[in-house]
Order: sequence, then C-alpha cells, then structure tokens
Amino acid sequence: MTVTDEPITDAPEPDLRRETGRWTHQWAELYTEVITSGLCTGCSACVISCPHDVIGYEHAEGGYKPFHLEDELGPADCTHGQKGCTSCTRACPRFRDWEPAADEHLFGRAREIEELHGISEQVLLVRAADDTVHDGGQDGGLVSALLLWLMEEGYIDGALVSGLEGDGSTLRPKPIAVSTPQEILDTAGSRYTYSANWLAYDDAKEKGLEKLALVGMGCQTSAAPVMWHRKIGKVGKPVQITIGLLCSKTFDDRIFEELFEAKYGIARTSIKKTNIKGVFQIWTHDGEYHEVPLKECHAWTREGCNHCPDFAAEHADISTGGIGKFNDWTLTVVRTPLGQAVMERMIGQGRVLVKPAEEDPAAVALMDRLSRVSRNRWPEEAIAFPKRMPPPPPKKKKAAPAAEAAPKAD
Ligand SMILES: Cc1cc2nc3c(=O)[nH]c(=O)nc-3n(C[C@H](O)[C@H](O)[C@H](O)COP(=O)(O)OP(=O)(O)OC[C@H]3O[C@@H](n4cnc5c(N)ncnc54)[C@H](O)[C@@H]3O)c2cc1C
Ligand code: SF4
Ligand code: SF4
Repeated sequence: MTVTDEPITDAPEPDLRRETGRWTHQWAELYTEVITSGLCTGCSACVISCPHDVIGYEHAEGGYKPFHLEDELGPADCTHGQKGCTSCTRACPRFRDWEPAADEHLFGRAREIEELHGISEQVLLVRAADDTVHDGGQDGGLVSALLLWLMEEGYIDGALVSGLEGDGSTLRPKPIAVSTPQEILDTAGSRYTYSANWLAYDDAKEKGLEKLALVGMGCQTSAAPVMWHRKIGKVGKPVQITIGLLCSKTFDDRIFEELFEAKYGIARTSIKKTNIKGVFQIWTHDGEYHEVPLKECHAWTREGCNHCPDFAAEHADISTGGIGKFNDWTLTVVRTPLGQAVMERMIGQGRVLVKPAEEDPAAVALMDRLSRVSRNRWPEEAIAFPKRMPPPPPKKKKAAPAAEAAPKAD
C-alpha cells in the first residue's frame, strides 16, 4: 500500500480560472458558452451594447434571449466579431469570470465563501417617509423614494425601470426610461414576469438622459460592474447607480391564462396587484384577495431563471427585497460606499424611516437560505465561482418521541 500526503478524491478541481491578457472574445463564444448552454438570463445587456446593432431580442413570451440578426455566418458567429468586435462578451454578466470581476470592480475584492448574500456594508429595514410613495411601493417604497431623491439631488436625470404595456390592463411589463417624479410613482410596484430594463437604454438616449439609475434583478444589475471592469467604453458610462431587486425567479407570461385564469378563474385584466410572500398573492380590482400555492406556479418558471445563482442582487449599490415579518418595509442591503452615502443622506433628511435588521434576524437568515438555494442552481460544469459557499448547516435531528408516547411493550 502506498501512503500519500494528498487525500485521494475523484472530485474534479473547481474551475476558478481568471481571464488574463487581451480580451478577444466575441459573439461566437457568447453563443456557445452562455446563450445555448443555459446560462443566459435574457438580461439584454449584450443587445444594447452591440455597436453594430446586430443582436436581436424579443421582449415577449417564448423570447427573452438574444439572437444574431445577420445571415452571413449563421446564428453562431458574427462578421464584426471576426474583425475584432468584443462588446457583447464584455457586457455579459454570465460570461466566464463575471462574478469576481463584478465584485472586484465594486468592492476591490472577491466575495469570501461565507458571504452568502454577497458583499455588504449594512442590512436595514427601510420605508419611504412620504405616505404616497410608501403606499405606491411594493414593500416599503424605498426604490421609488431613492429614485425621487437621486433625481432631486442631481445624481441622475432618469432611470431604467419597468412600466406596463398599453393602458396597463394586461400586466405585461415593458422596460422604460423615466425622467419625472410622476413617471417614477407610476412605475412603482413589482411585476413577476420578466422586464429586461436595460432595453430602455435607447429610449433614455433618445430622451437625452445622461445620468441614469438602473433598477433590476441581479441578472441585470451585475451587468453594469461587469461592463465597467471589462472596459466596454461608452455604454456603461451613463449608469451612475444600480438598485437591485432580490429575486428567486420570474414567471412565464402564460401563467396568467394557464394557471390563474384556468384553475382559479382570475382574469389577467381583473388583477390589481400581486406579491410573493410564501404564496403567490393576488388582489383584484373588485377588492377580493386570492392565494395560489407557489408549488403550483413552479411549472411556469421562465427558462432564463433556471440556472441563476444570484438571489440577493449582489452587484448593486443597494439591493432591496420584501422578505421578513414587517410587511410594507423594504429589506435593504447597502453594499457600496456610494450606496452607503446615499442612504445616510436620505436618512439624515428624513426621507426614509429605518430599523436595524437585528429587529428581524429571521429575514436575514431567510435571505441567506434563499441565496444558497440559488447558488445551488448554477451548473457544476460552469466556472465555479458562483457556487462557492460554506457547507450547509447540519440538519436538525428529529427529537425522539417522549417515553410515555412510545408504544408499550406487552
Ligand atoms: C421579478 C421579481 C421577483 C422578486 N422576488 C423577490 C423575492 O423572491 N424575495 C424578495 O424579498 N423580494 C423580491 N422582489 C423584490 C420586491 O418585490 C420589491 O421589488 C423590493 O422589495 C422593492 O420594493 P419597494 O417597495 O422598495 O420598491 P418600489 O418602490 O415598489 O419600486 C419597485 C421598482 O421595481 C421595478 N420593477 C417592477 N417589476 C419589475 C420587473 N419585473 N423587472 C424589473 N424591474 C421591475 C419598478 O419599475 C420599480 O422601479 C422581486 C421583485 C421582482 C420584480
Ligand atoms: S446573459 Fe444577458 S448579456 Fe449574457 S448573453 Fe444573455 S442576454 Fe446577453
Ligand atoms: S432568478 Fe431573477 S435574477 Fe435570476 S435570472 Fe431570473 S429574473 Fe434574473
């Protein structure tokens, strides 16, 4: 028997390769490594970054994935890429070593394995002080309060957010660029189908907006630091601040007809507001309230969410969510020095009310648990960074039945 110092294991080494040298990756690599491998979330950052406008995107059911518009080299290659254009891979927050790239750009270091919900300065519970802003918000109205304040203070002149198509009665989200307080209030609240808010970038440019906030789930907010880190040039420059939305998944638009209407008789046009708090909550215009078990909704999970490892929107300046025992407060993860400065000034000016997260430790524990669940979805064969986390806590042993409850021997 040979004795070795090394433990014998069949487990392959985790792939923790960092990108070095000249960046030469183009659409062909994006296509095989992200778009057709299942990693693509449909965030649309590659679409708005393409300087030749050859990446298409359908913001509709069955779409939410980029595709190449030129026929010359087929769907899997690009003539501009062949000549040296690399913008799409520089923008993509799922390409190669995106996670440490985003972390290092924002925080000057990569995430430690123990940092399950990402790097943060502070976790708070926050609500807008103004009742109109608070009432219109999904949870505490913090995101709307932030946008209003950032605009007043001149940090931004507009924001990429999610509005609704047409008169809003279909509840189909539409990425839009807002630039007035009323537009911010009109677009508050959460839609649980996908809104690729980066797509409003061209709208913002047409409106002459130069300093933008990006609101979006982690799949969208990670694109900004990835773009900055990989030096994409002009595209990332207008984005001054990113506001993340915690997110486990979005649903395919068919859920309205195929589940809510077919099984529960709730027509899409009758829905006033939805929320997810352990169940899918639905309020209708006639004042009724309905609950749909989340288990029933899972079959309508949007494909782009299946491998997403980022629950806590880890690469935003400030991330926001609705979990916890305090309804109508926003669970707020302050991550960057910019996020910290903004929150301090808003608190100082009385624009938001704040409680320490210690008042609801279960909310933070749940955020960590859901972050772990999302990290587990990242495929084993992909680059290993997003899957790094400490081993799960040991399962609680079932308490032995009390002696008197045990069956008596004859
Ligand atoms: C798809 C989705 C899933 C979510 N899942 C969770 C979750 O599992 N757990 C949790 O704690 N929190 C989740 N959230 C976050 C939560 O619903 C609230 O958005 C967050 O707490 C901020 O609330 P607020 O009252 O401060 O924001 P508000 O003031 O209401 O502002 C919300 C902002 O989000 C934008 N927005 C709305 N819908 C979308 C969309 N589909 N895509 C992109 N932007 C959008 C609006 O335009 C607005 O700017 C999710 C949000 C979304 C959109
Ligand atoms: S994840 Fe986003 S940037 Fe990457 S390929 Fe998909 S849509 Fe494009
Ligand atoms: S789970 Fe949420 S953050 Fe992840 S890809 Fe889906 S929408 Fe984006």
